[in-house]
Amino acid sequence: MKIRCPRCKGGAELAPGFASVSCPGCGLEMSYGEYVRHVAHSDAAYSDILGDYAGSTGGQSSGTLDEWDEQG
Ligand SMILES: [Zn+2]
Repeated sequence: MKIRCPRCKGGAELAPGFASVSCPGCGLEMSYGEYVRHVAHSDAAYSDILGDYAGSTGGQSSGTLDEWDEQG
């Protein structure tokens, strides 16, 4: 899943299951938890991503949410 890189504003990649965030443009590597903390303080527009991270809404059908639940 493509997301915006918090460092270079380019296209970063969110690994399946929200495992990690990596950006081929600038070499960014961080856990998704670190990414969420970073963007939450800099851009309120990421609130939808934060909602996905919380998961367990039950209303949306998504394989990534199932994987997230398994990770606890
Ligand atoms: Zn980048």
